Amino acid sequence: MTAEKTSPLHAPMQQFPAAQGQLIVGGMPLTQLAARVGATPFYAYDRGLLTQRVAALRAALPPAVKLHYAMKANPLPALVCHMAGLVDGIDVASGGELKVALDAGVAPHEISFAGPGKRDGELRQAVAAGIMVNVEAFREIDALAAITRELGLPARVAVRVNPDFELKSSGMKMGGGPKQFGVDAEQVPALLGEIARHGLSFEGFHLFAGSQNLKAEAIVEAQNKSYELALRLAEHAPAPVRFLNLGGGFGIPYFPGEQRLDIAAIGANLAALARRASTEMPSATLVIELGRYLVGEAGIYVTRVIDRKVSRGQVFLVVDGGLHHHLSASGNFGQVIRKNYPVAIGNRMGATEKETASVVGPLCTPLDLLADRMELARAEPGDLVVIFQSGAYGASASPQGFLGHPAVVEVLV
Ligand SMILES: *Cc1c(COP(=O)(O)O)cnc(C)c1O
Repeated sequence: MTAEKTSPLHAPMQQFPAAQGQLIVGGMPLTQLAARVGATPFYAYDRGLLTQRVAALRAALPPAVKLHYAMKANPLPALVCHMAGLVDGIDVASGGELKVALDAGVAPHEISFAGPGKRDGELRQAVAAGIMVNVEAFREIDALAAITRELGLPARVAVRVNPDFELKSSGMKMGGGPKQFGVDAEQVPALLGEIARHGLSFEGFHLFAGSQNLKAEAIVEAQNKSYELALRLAEHAPAPVRFLNLGGGFGIPYFPGEQRLDIAAIGANLAALARRASTEMPSATLVIELGRYLVGEAGIYVTRVIDRKVSRGQVFLVVDGGLHHHLSASGNFGQVIRKNYPVAIGNRMGATEKETASVVGPLCTPLDLLADRMELARAEPGDLVVIFQSGAYGASASPQGFLGHPAVVEVLV
């Protein structure tokens, strides 16, 4: 027997069904949706899939653990509104995001605010709104104390800890070693002393070790270490811990060979931690905060083929969208080696005539590459190229002003 050498495949994108050659998004065939939107390119987020995702995750998590949505992943107001009805809290990372969360009707006690460079004006907005600030520096304590005196309102604070460990296998490490995020664990006792001295309302700890992790064992290990660290630090706290935010970092499969995360293992571990917390930190609620995992798989980016060029035997589908709308899919948002996102011709699903083609955008730069020599249904001008896994870090994480092309439309369907 000869083992056939096969290149790894993308994880199947079965969250969107197909019928009569059309991808179905929000219950509608893609060409109809494109007509309804009225323009390409666009992002479409499927609210049914968002709802299903949260439900499936909740089924794997112990009921005692609260689920927050980190809106940095996708701040579209309509989507934040929808998510607000599904989760237990919204995490914001700027005064601008705070506005969106409040406008969405999220209760102030369900909003928390993290970020390494909060301006005084943003801290003031936070105190006035009554939301919780995840403090990341001694400077923020001084500023919050002054704001508390000025407004006569107590600042609600949790301490974001830069842990003394790193999240293994994470796409983006955001804790451990020297970092701009949080306060180094060894300095936290002194910071807690400052919180007590200024009479701020201490509510708990926040740890966020990293993003885009597909290894359940690594996430479990980080959550266990975060819990242990918080338990040690709680001995120095001026009040009982009410919230222990263990972060998240749950990833989704983007590239060939990547598999979906094993949520059951993470849920089982969180159940064990919640049981421990009930005796070791009895007033604490455990929280996880997720962005990408909740919204990433529910979104697609759709762009229309303008031209089909053949250059020295290689097929290029030139489309009306590109890296200015979808920097991540072009490989220029944090990736070390460029790899293809899952891509399909959304109005030729299941077509038997296939070819190897590259999908390139209209920008005058070779970086504007959405798919590099992928096997796709044979496409013609007018066809719709779909990039899956586009619900997180898409439009808002892309340089829309670059080269002066029209802005992208975003719809929740
Ligand atoms: C970016 C960020 C998140 C969301 O990360 P995802 O990988 O999208 O889940 C959560 N918390 C904090 C503090 C963040 O900075």
